This record gives sequence, structure tokens and C-alpha cells, in this order.
Amino acid sequence: MRNPLQNAAAGTTLKSPGDTPGSAGDAPGSTGRAAASLAELVTYRTVSRRTVSFRAEGSSRAEAGVETDQFEAFIAALPRLYPAVHAGLELERVNGHALLYRWPGTAPAAGQRASVLMAHYDVVPAADPGEWTQAPFSGHNDGTFLWGRGTLDDKGQLVAILEAAESLLRSGYAPAHDLYFSFGNNEETAGHSAAAAADLLAGRGVTPWLVLDEGGAVAGGAFPGVSRPAAVVGVAEKGILDVELLTRDPGGHASTPPRMGATARLARALTRIERSPFPQSLPEVTAEMLRRFGPHTPPPLRAVFANVGLLRAPITWLFGRLGNETNAMTRTTVAITTLEGSSAANVLAATAKANANIRVAVGETVEGTVAQLRKIIRDPKVELRVVEGNDPSPVSPSSGAQWELLADCIGQVFPEAIITPYIMMGGTDSRRFTGICGTVYRFAPFFMDARARGSIHAVDEKISLETLDQGVRFYETLMREL
Ligand SMILES: [Zn+2]
Repeated sequence: MRNPLQNAAAGTTLKSPGDTPGSAGDAPGSTGRAAASLAELVTYRTVSRRTVSFRAEGSSRAEAGVETDQFEAFIAALPRLYPAVHAGLELERVNGHALLYRWPGTAPAAGQRASVLMAHYDVVPAADPGEWTQAPFSGHNDGTFLWGRGTLDDKGQLVAILEAAESLLRSGYAPAHDLYFSFGNNEETAGHSAAAAADLLAGRGVTPWLVLDEGGAVAGGAFPGVSRPAAVVGVAEKGILDVELLTRDPGGHASTPPRMGATARLARALTRIERSPFPQSLPEVTAEMLRRFGPHTPPPLRAVFANVGLLRAPITWLFGRLGNETNAMTRTTVAITTLEGSSAANVLAATAKANANIRVAVGETVEGTVAQLRKIIRDPKVELRVVEGNDPSPVSPSSGAQWELLADCIGQVFPEAIITPYIMMGGTDSRRFTGICGTVYRFAPFFMDARARGSIHAVDEKISLETLDQGVRFYETLMREL
């Protein structure tokens, strides 16, 4: 067995984390290449747009305004940027613009311990380009940061994977077991391509040993009282559910309104939802996270976190009141996102509608959540319709060979980081793979401080060249063990 602590970067031209990022561009090594490739790939406007329209027939969720020529241009650039990858790996397109690479393993039964490394190259729109310090699709490299939409979410991860593979191939390395790269093109909307890729693999009898997608990161200043960075690895994600609430009324002139018309009835339902949050609990994964943070917190907190088991009830209660993020960690949450009533100022609404965007707690189900919602609203005249919904994912283990391997690789590149499992509040493409793999993890090997995390889906998204290099080193280390 190969030593997981061996420095996989030895013998390459990668710089050490202590080097100044500005020197990266001078070197012919993979860092300069990674930055140059990412800079180009950012310029392709591979934007996914999501619109929720109540008026559309059938599925009320439509993808509009996707510029397929930008996706084609992105795909066309890859063989030029990564010639060794495209010479040595099989590539097929899935569901139009998603990409599935297979790097054949050299072991006799290479397919029986296959792994899947995931990323997505679609991005959310840059709504206010004028507010960016550098234009969102410029890929501007200022010597410290590479700027642009998708640098962190999630083209940077795609580049780190391809860059690592390119380096390893050039050094003559081949993995023992089959290695797949699954790159989605619609993660920011429906994620149907990831589902298609998982189906394709399932149809070929592939049951991955490990799946790794975006999600967590090496987070600086993420938790109060914890001074060291935290490498948070997503072991599960909450379910996502959109429910349409609909009320009806005969309508008519606004000068003679009825009592409890469509809009008032809807408003009452929304108020009831607001006043009756879903029940709270502290998931075991979150308790485990607190235990791992414990030794790195100041004394009063340290004692509390060391006794999570005993103090579960008060900690859960406290989480509900500390802030929106900690609250979301302890329960199913409901956000009313869209509202629709009458289309004219002096006309009664014949129908009123709202969309409830619900994040279903791990362990719950879409069905149970809708039933609970009916109970909270307690009004049969409010119609509920599930627009789209996914149950929460199963929970991957925070121990065992796959977990230990990830932890080893993270520890080699980020020795300061506290490594911990956590439950993701958002969704990733990887949830589509939980049907064929019990060890699905969500982690991008990049250091992100609070500002970096805040730039995702917002203005001034950028990645530091230093952490892009760390990402490449992480994947090189990992690929050598797969
Ligand atoms: Zn993403």
C-alpha cells in the first residue's frame, strides 16, 4: 500500500505554500498553467439562469437564456489547455454539455474501486457587473488573485482537477483504479446532467468507492471562538423543496371586498408559517463537529463542546437563537420567496400565490415536510403543490478508509486546519450520486476567508493564486491514492 503521507508534490515544479503568490506567473510549473487556464475559462460566459414562472405549463421551472455557444467554446478550449488529459483519458458528453472523463486504472480489477471527482462549470449570472472591481468575466490576474465569476464556484475546482491530472500524466503516472471526472453544466439550476452521469455509471455497473464534489472548503473565521481554519467536509446536504401555496376567490371589484379574500387568506397562511418554525434538533454530524472544534476553542466554550452529549438540549436551543446560520443547522427552514396577487390595483385577486423554498433537515422527507406544512397552515382552502423537491441526502460516514484518505490529503496541504464533517445547507450535484455510492463527500480544497465565501454568487468573486496552487496539490496527492 502506498504511504498516504508521502509528499505527492515532490519532484514537481509546484511552489510551497510559503512562496509569494506573485512569483507563480514566472514559473513554468503547474501553478502558472493553472492560473492561465482558469483565467481563460472564466471568460466563457457559461451562465445558468433559473426562473420560476407560475404561468408555464407542466414543470413551472424553466431554464432561459442559456448561451450554448459559450458552453461549446468552454468545452473546445479544454483539449488545448490539457493535451495530456485529452490524449490519455476517455471523454464523453452527457446530456448535451456535461463532461465525463474516464482515466483507466492499471490494476487488474481497476473498475471495481473507481472514484469520481466532480465539479461544475456553469456559473450564476453577475447581476451588477458595474459593482465589480474587475469585470466579472475578465479572468484578471493581479499577481495575488484571479478575478471573476466561477473562480471559486466552481471552475477553480475543475481546473485544479484537470491540472493535477495533466501534471501526473506528464510525469508518467497512471492511477491504480479507474478515475472519473464528472463536470456538470447545470448545477446552478436543475443538476439534471449530474443525474444523467450517475445513471450512466450505474448502467455500466460502476459503484464508486469515493465521490468528491464541491461543498465545504478550508474556512477561515467560520466559527466564533475557533481561531484555526476549519476544513469542513460535507457528509450530507439538506433537501430542497419548492411548494406553491395557492388561494382562490371569485374576484371582482376592489370597492366591495369580501372578508378573507384570496390575498388575506394567503397572508394568514404565511404568518402562521412564520410563527411556527419546524421542530429543532441537533444532528449527530453537527455534534461531532462541535466535539472536534472543542479543543481549539477558549475555555468556557471548550467545556461546553466537550460535553455536547450532556448539553445537547441547551446547545440546540442556543443555536436556534444565535443567528440564521446556526438556526438553519438545527431544523427544516421555510423562506417565502415569491408572492403574486392581483395584476391591477383596483381588481380583487382571483388567485393569490406564494412560493415556499424549504430546506429539509437531514432525516426528514419531502412528504413529511409537506404534511407538517399543512398542519401549520391549518386551512384546507390553501392549496399546496410540490413544484420540485428532493429528500435530504443520506449521511456519509465521518470515519473509515475514504474519510481517512481525505483527511490525510487535506492535512498534507492544509496542516493547520481542523478537519471536521458538516451538513451542507445548500445543494450540490453530488446528491445525484448517493444512489450509487455510500461515501459521497463535498469539499473544495481551497482556503476561503469570510470575504471569499461572501463573494460566491455575489460581487468580486476571486481566488487567491496561492490557494489555487493548494487545490492542485490536494488533487495530485489524492489522485496518487485512488
Ligand atoms: Zn457550485
